[in-house]
Amino acid sequence: MLFSRTFRLRASVKFRKTKFAPVAQWIRAFDYGSKGRGFESLQAHHFRAIKHGDKMNHEFFMKEALKEALKAYKKNEVPVGAVVVKDGVVISRGHNLIRLTRNAAAHAEMIALKKASKKIGFVRLTGLALYVTLEPCPMCAGAILLSRLDSLIYGATDPKTGACGSVHTILNDKRNNHQVKITAGVLEKECAELLTGFFKEKRKQK
Ligand SMILES: [Zn+2]
Repeated sequence: MLFSRTFRLRASVKFRKTKFAPVAQWIRAFDYGSKGRGFESLQAHHFRAIKHGDKMNHEFFMKEALKEALKAYKKNEVPVGAVVVKDGVVISRGHNLIRLTRNAAAHAEMIALKKASKKIGFVRLTGLALYVTLEPCPMCAGAILLSRLDSLIYGATDPKTGACGSVHTILNDKRNNHQVKITAGVLEKECAELLTGFFKEKRKQK
């Protein structure tokens, strides 16, 4: 069992090195089990073992967010995924469910934040980090501020509704009484390719 989990992680790391990843390849590469306490504790172990600085850690957790984005993709939802991380462990996950829930507010970030608050039993998520594959929109940026997250790490920028500098500057506003540490562009190419692949397929279907 341990061998198979280790192998899966290695497969995932190997995949990161590839230059171009068509969507189908992404789905295969990330299509392994991520549920249950076993994986989370292994993940914590892996996190401690990395120690190659923030970049590697950010990429590790962005891959977890990408797994969520793939779940959305498979449900025919815009592929955006998010995870909330506390002390090096993913405590909640979310992916876009707008179409399936008929709820315009069912963004990956909102779902992950709600689950995180429920899990820690407190509305404020001080000390926690949110990883999301796409730059948050104004609604999610507002929720990030209200939940008092420490840091936001995102992948692709959103030139249409991004609220972290692309279009709006909600999170970067110095007038806010809470400042969130922002890291942009982690696995940006992979996060963006998933989105462009999705919309390309949609256009073909029309
Ligand atoms: Zn949003």
